[in-house]
Amino acid sequence: MSTVPATASVVIVGAGPAGLTAGIALTDAGADVVLLDRLAEGANTSRAAVVHARTLEVLEELGVSAEMREHGIVVPHFVLWDGDKAIARASFEHLPTAYPYTLMIGQETTEAILLARLEKAGGRVLRPYEVTEITGNDTGVTVGYTDAEGNPGSIRADYVIGADGMHSRVRESAGIGFTGAAYPESFVLADVHMAWPDPRTQVSLHLSPEGVTVVAPLPDEQGTRYRVVATVDEAPAEPTLADIQGILDARRPNAGVEVREVLWSSRFRVHHRLADHYRAGRVFLAGDAAHVHSPAGGQGMNTGIQDAALLGSLLGRVLAGSPASLLDSYESTRRPIALGVVTFTDRITRMATLRSRPARAARNLFLGTVTRIPAVRQALAYRLSELAAR
Ligand SMILES: Cc1cc2nc3c(=O)[nH]c(=O)nc-3n(C[C@H](O)[C@H](O)[C@H](O)COP(=O)(O)OP(=O)(O)OC[C@H]3O[C@@H](n4cnc5c(N)ncnc54)[C@H](O)[C@@H]3O)c2cc1C
Repeated sequence: MSTVPATASVVIVGAGPAGLTAGIALTDAGADVVLLDRLAEGANTSRAAVVHARTLEVLEELGVSAEMREHGIVVPHFVLWDGDKAIARASFEHLPTAYPYTLMIGQETTEAILLARLEKAGGRVLRPYEVTEITGNDTGVTVGYTDAEGNPGSIRADYVIGADGMHSRVRESAGIGFTGAAYPESFVLADVHMAWPDPRTQVSLHLSPEGVTVVAPLPDEQGTRYRVVATVDEAPAEPTLADIQGILDARRPNAGVEVREVLWSSRFRVHHRLADHYRAGRVFLAGDAAHVHSPAGGQGMNTGIQDAALLGSLLGRVLAGSPASLLDSYESTRRPIALGVVTFTDRITRMATLRSRPARAARNLFLGTVTRIPAVRQALAYRLSELAAR
């Protein structure tokens, strides 16, 4: 446990992908940053596994995209299925970017790469310190925390970034509302080894009355590791091999799928919520603290990293002497983007979980028809890759 200083220019609460990204941007800018996390060590589970083109562009500016590319799998194609029929395709191949694909890479690897980059810049994460309260006035902010033994302490800062996830204490302390609701379905999430019929350059998204199921390849020497995400009415707490096999047999019939090993599985409930504001005085929100949404399209972590990179660079410039009014552009730039993502992923999720047979038939016909139009396919790829957020 390292000692927390009494003052800092910026305190970042939370060392997930958003906090680490903001930490790198600010450390590079020469700011005096303190990054606190309540966990004794970083989470080591895979969670968000999709990194989109726009995120790779943003991370290129921080010098980590090439390393991420080395550790991930390049996936340029998305195919939409209804049962055993492919009904639509989208490709990232023709996008105007140096990264015309999505990169599949476990979140634990992404975080390890970001942490190593932060440390190379001279920054570090102080653990385990749980932030309990934020109080502020016109001249600064006081961040209250407890250490591993429960001893209280505080740090005085010019600015605070709440990158402390969906249940953000910073957001709560700042009195910022988190408007939205939870989806009725729960989500099953599993990383498995299996025999799967589709090429490993493709993400397969299955629509079925029981729910939506996404299968995507994960980095692995044997070439048999996949991420499975599926909506179900009531998911078991720890989905077993038989649960995953049952889901895939029902939703992708006649494909000869054989699940061989479950490496990690979990269930979670998804919310669609957006912070009413991204800023309250000297307190800012980034990542899941500011927005959460359906994992459809794999946008959650991506949007958070992009928030944090912008916020880190704006704060870095203000601390170096630019006018403080520059900070107003953070909410006005990033909140509409998150609103767009919440709305878009909500639409996909609702469309994907249609139950009535006529509604499904109409949806499939519509999707099959419109995605034959090259401009529509390109617009969809543009949206999913988040290049539209440039
Ligand atoms: C099981 C699971 C599966 C997921 N699957 C996907 C997926 O398939 N696709 C996708 O896009 N997204 C997925 N997500 C969401 C994705 O992981 C998040 O979008 C991403 O982690 C958000 O990053 P963040 O940095 O904003 O917050 P987080 O990663 O949540 O990090 C917040 C950090 O803040 C720390 N913290 C919290 N409170 C305090 C406090 N009071 N004091 C100090 N530290 C604090 C936490 O310890 C944590 O390290 C999944 C999440 C979970 C839990």
